[in-house]
Amino acid sequence: MQEKTSCVVCGHEILARVGTNCPNCGHTISFYEGNEKKKEFSKYFAMSIILPFLSFVAIIMTSESLIPSIIASFIALYFAYVVCPLRKIKLFSTTYEKIFFWVIWGMFTGLLITLEFNIYGNLLAK
Ligand SMILES: [Zn+2]
Repeated sequence: MQEKTSCVVCGHEILARVGTNCPNCGHTISFYEGNEKKKEFSKYFAMSIILPFLSFVAIIMTSESLIPSIIASFIALYFAYVVCPLRKIKLFSTTYEKIFFWVIWGMFTGLLITLEFNIYGNLLAK
């Protein structure tokens, strides 16, 4: 028995599978349809890669002088806070997902902290 849903446009009963065309109005079921959590999850997944990467770029670009470095550190801290898995705990439905995101977050945060440590070491030694 395949899962059915009612078309969001005309209410006609159709298969809930992604890519199904409504025979009544031609509406196509999209991946995100009726699933806010999945959407939120994808957004979080993208952010947990992009934000640490932006932090990384910002830290590298500002590594020559102290004040910009401090600003970049605060940005990096803020981003780390934004993508911290602890804040998104409701999104994870399996232990695997939870571990996966903690590993990503831990790796990026660890990398950025090491980087900052070296940069400040160099800047303050001047
Ligand atoms: Zn329809």
